[in-house]
Amino acid sequence: MPDSHHASSGLTLDTRLTRTGKAPSHAGGVPVNTPLVRASTVLFDSVGAMRDARARRDEERIFSYGARGTPTTFALEDAVSELEGAWRTRLFPTGLAAIGMVLLSYLKPGDHVLMSDSVYEPTRNLVHSFLEPYGIRSTFFAADGSGIEELFEPNTRLVYAECPGSLVYEMCDLPKLAELAHARGALLAADNTWGSGVQYRPLALGADISTMAATKYLSGHSDVMMGTVATTEAAWRPLNERCDAFGMTVSPDDAWLVLRGMRTLSARLQMHERHALEVAHWLQERPEVATVFCPALPQHPGHEIWKRDCSGTNGLLSIELQPGVGNAAVERFVDALRLFGRGSSWGGYESLVAWTNMRAARSVTDWSGRGAVVRLHVGLESPRDLTADLASGFEAMASASGA
Ligand SMILES: *Cc1c(COP(=O)(O)O)cnc(C)c1O
Repeated sequence: MPDSHHASSGLTLDTRLTRTGKAPSHAGGVPVNTPLVRASTVLFDSVGAMRDARARRDEERIFSYGARGTPTTFALEDAVSELEGAWRTRLFPTGLAAIGMVLLSYLKPGDHVLMSDSVYEPTRNLVHSFLEPYGIRSTFFAADGSGIEELFEPNTRLVYAECPGSLVYEMCDLPKLAELAHARGALLAADNTWGSGVQYRPLALGADISTMAATKYLSGHSDVMMGTVATTEAAWRPLNERCDAFGMTVSPDDAWLVLRGMRTLSARLQMHERHALEVAHWLQERPEVATVFCPALPQHPGHEIWKRDCSGTNGLLSIELQPGVGNAAVERFVDALRLFGRGSSWGGYESLVAWTNMRAARSVTDWSGRGAVVRLHVGLESPRDLTADLASGFEAMASASGA
């Protein structure tokens, strides 16, 4: 072994390489952004200190092992708790993983869950792929919450809502759902990805659990996957215990990216909102468009609830094309767009377009006979350029209609 650089300590190079360069603090100031801490093992000065950390870590925020979080993931958890008005928050590798862990934490075989017809499609798929085989029954309720009273069963333990709903942004009366659920001994969970804790705050409206895909607006740059679950103090324990039992954690690098994205969350959302409304008003004048879906528009069915419960809208808009427009024409429209990228997800700074299948996405509401629904995510680009792009898309669509 190279032994020529013997330090005065008498330790060999191999040993010194494991111990050098670890100074955690420096003379002078502190960085603006939270430092990135990566860790599996966490070291303690004594057996007693380690024993003490293990005894306290279920109740307190203690840095004890990488799987239980690092100072970087703790910082993001605290930032999300602040946004959601929550007691505490856990982080997950994707938004979908966060939703799966909510179902795993609050339901057990023999239970029944009421699920909104407006949920994100992979959430709906969990009913068949996970809940049914696991012995948990579910019933879908209308996206506006109507008629839900009749659907409760004695073993209903959870009401799962998504408001505004995925794809066409149906609104439900969340405080009323909370009241109905709580009166029957059930908890209310809400997917808050649309509101991102800025435009909508389910916990303040009576929900016990709020999930978000931080993949979307919190990270804001389409380059990181992350899910969050934030709860009230009363609802915290089952989630926290299940997460520790399953070793749920996220990379501190990803947490650091989301934390960085969150600094501009409110500023970005204001710009997304302004641009989306401008594009929405332009679309409402187009003869090719039968309906523009956006809860901030007075014509939207849930507009009054949106006014009461939301503080704004975001970059999402969907359009229903005239029922006569065929599939080939829709495809020509989508393919002709140059500034709207074709891709799933949303919440980054860029504009996106996705052709949806509403018939597959809803089971309570019948979408047959209606026009094709295309979802737009309006980004930070100039609305003038975006509407020009959409206009050329409609031109391409018209040329396909004759074909
Ligand atoms: C995207 C999305 C999710 C899932 O997030 P991923 O990070 O992509 O897994 C969950 N709920 C809603 C409403 C979403 O839009």
